Amino acid sequence: SDPIHVVGGGLAGSEAAWQIAQAGLPVVLHEMRPLRGTEAHRTDGLAELVCSNSFRSDDADLNAVGLLHQEMRRLGSLIMRAGDAHQVPAGGALAVDRDGFSRAVTAALEAHPGVTLVRQEIDGLPPASWDSVIVATGPLTAPGLAEGIRGLTGAESLAFFDAIAPIVHRDSIDMGTAWFQSRYDKVGPGGTGADYINCPLDRERYAAFVAALVAGDKTSFKEWEASTPYFDGCLPIEVMAERGPETLRHGPMKPFGLTNPHDPTVKAYAVVQLRQDNALGTLYNMVGFQTKLRHAEQVRIFRTIPGLERAEFARLGGLHRNTYLDSPRLLDATLRLRAAPRLRFAGQITGCEGYVESAAIGLMAGRFAAAERQGRALAPLPATTALGALIAHITGGHISDDAPAEEAGAAPAAGVPRSFQPMNVNFGLFPPLAQAPRAPDGRRLRGPEKAQARKRALTERARSALGAWLGEPGLPAAAE
Ligand code: FAD
Repeated sequence: SDPIHVVGGGLAGSEAAWQIAQAGLPVVLHEMRPLRGTEAHRTDGLAELVCSNSFRSDDADLNAVGLLHQEMRRLGSLIMRAGDAHQVPAGGALAVDRDGFSRAVTAALEAHPGVTLVRQEIDGLPPASWDSVIVATGPLTAPGLAEGIRGLTGAESLAFFDAIAPIVHRDSIDMGTAWFQSRYDKVGPGGTGADYINCPLDRERYAAFVAALVAGDKTSFKEWEASTPYFDGCLPIEVMAERGPETLRHGPMKPFGLTNPHDPTVKAYAVVQLRQDNALGTLYNMVGFQTKLRHAEQVRIFRTIPGLERAEFARLGGLHRNTYLDSPRLLDATLRLRAAPRLRFAGQITGCEGYVESAAIGLMAGRFAAAERQGRALAPLPATTALGALIAHITGGHISDDAPAEEAGAAPAAGVPRSFQPMNVNFGLFPPLAQAPRAPDGRRLRGPEKAQARKRALTERARSALGAWLGEPGLPAAAE
């Protein structure tokens, strides 16, 4: 039969090609390096790690990315196999020898009889004669292809920058200080008039907060990032703070139209608002707080905000060159572009973040493409698995028809989180447990003990859900 084409031999594309070949189908992998480079890649190896050499925590009981490692190993991942084989000591983390790792991935694909590796840039959309294509060209997708994709999706649906506001786990916000309310109690379509979480600052705290932002340690733009357009209108919060002490109070920290029910007589001098970020309501983003502050500084400074003293961050803020789709609106449940279903997307361009997550989406894209070619139905992955939770985040799979609608003017389909931002896998993407776990003697758990028990219960639930999924008839045996 005709081969399936994979464009981009990075973390996602290498894994996707491997999965297709392992399913017994021919696959052509197109990688533009070394003919054309990117601003971050340095070699011509497949699956090059462009920055850190870490796959992060390998703890499958207490950590969402560790669980994802385990699930990928169970599904015969090439990226995990090569990572395990080229591990370097890093405590509880899985870190790898980057050259050995990339060489192992390249060699495995070159040696596979089902894989043809072509060193070629796909400039513009892939040829119309290719009926099944996986686009896995990453955050630094070459411009010709990016333009072609924009022609299909519309300019507003392919971002070139992620201006990320920090995202907080809802259950770590102190609601004894913060409160739910929309500005002027405005009820948008599907809203309740209490859609935001508000954190009040008095005059002194506000002044100290602005001073901390201005003094805080920042990362600088790389030269090639500074010259990329499209970040007007999403100024980092510390840049606003530098423009004058009152700027933030008249911008994202406006106190107007809000009354603190904990003490209605006192007017807040400034307010930080957090908005629901996922359909499950477990994650909230700090509205307008994109920032180039270093991560440790963000945690230190944002925890001075009343109500956020013990905030746990699902991700911290940032501003980077990053090509990615508004996937919840554009992709179907098997990662196909609704407007052109012969094109499937994988990796960071779908709006996940990180080496492991990119490879994980590549793994599933490869399996979806192979199943489609073989005329097999692939049962949907349970959203309680790490892989399933990540796919649901990307494709909007958690969104039900009765989820709250978009604010008028913001356009995307009903219920899609307003700011789709690339994200690492984390427990906030998992459907909550039906019941809070208890101690063996039935006692209610608290604090760190409760948090640990919750993570264990989530990872155990994920393992058995994946087991059940793998046991379904008609699926290829996965665990090698
Ligand atoms: P990539 O691994 O980038 O693979 C895409 C491939 O497609 C590349 O090989 C590219 O050459 C090729 N390509 C692009 N366009 C074309 C075309 N038109 N035709 C043919 N080939 C093409 N994540 C982490 O977990 N840890 C980090 O430390 C980290 N640091 C990062 C630093 C930077 C500067 C950037 C930009 C990202 C970083 N990331 C990091 C995020 C992300 O996880 C990685 O970028 C990851 O490599 C994404 O995997 P991918 O397969 O989607 O893309």
